[in-house]
Amino acid sequence: MEIRLCDVGKQFKNGTRALDHVSFTVSQGEFVSVIGPSGAGKTTLFRILNGMEAPDSGAVLFDGRDLASMQKSGRKSVKKSIGTIYQDFCLVENSTCLSNVLTACLPDMGFFPAVFGLYGKERRAEAIKLLDRVGLLEKADEPVKNLSGGQKQRAAIARALMRHPQVLLADEPAASLDPVTGRQILSLLKEIQEKDGVTVLMNSHNLEFSRAFSDRIIGLKDGTVVFDGKPDEMDDGTLRRIYLN
Ligand code: ADP
Repeated sequence: MEIRLCDVGKQFKNGTRALDHVSFTVSQGEFVSVIGPSGAGKTTLFRILNGMEAPDSGAVLFDGRDLASMQKSGRKSVKKSIGTIYQDFCLVENSTCLSNVLTACLPDMGFFPAVFGLYGKERRAEAIKLLDRVGLLEKADEPVKNLSGGQKQRAAIARALMRHPQVLLADEPAASLDPVTGRQILSLLKEIQEKDGVTVLMNSHNLEFSRAFSDRIIGLKDGTVVFDGKPDEMDDGTLRRIYLN
């Protein structure tokens, strides 16, 4: 799925302009990092991409179609094809890894099966396979609260993959992790990009990781794109433009 932002603007009611004339296109299968100082608009951009906020000017096109003008079913299928993982994992701590992964199926299930957790054999088998893929097979029946941060992020990635996303939005995926574990999580995201052709759009404070794992970096400052290029095109002057004055 191609994602195209055309002149996107977002101003909050208090007058803050979080995004201003933001335009870029991400092709299917790219690994793109969005970097920028605090307040640059990264979170707002991600919230617009996963449909939690709407832009108040411009358009976001998914394979050329504007979410705002789509029928409910079209919007649902676009949203389904975008998975999100978060800095703080957003898992249910008292539930097992397996249950957390299976909750990804709830939106597609009928009321009674959903309420009673009747996921069925196929979904369970797929969830187990994904837990194996992310290296958590032995932890399937372990409550999430007993896992390390890195293991929690792996469980969150398995949960996102359960919906067969075309795009993974990774919101500071390594920010709560130590550098070694963070790098392992980024390697897992890179493997998913390369093997499955999933687009990874990562919001990151970690320049080293953005440089090492991305095909492309977008630098945001004060809600505008001030850099859009390959990691090796990002020199000191560019960084100064993004992070200073
Ligand atoms: P980042 O993720 O890069 O730190 P954000 O997207 O969170 O940036 O914020 C961009 C700007 O929008 C900031 O000035 C922030 O204070 C403001 N902002 C974010 N959310 C809201 C909101 N709900 N209401 C008002 N202002 C907001």
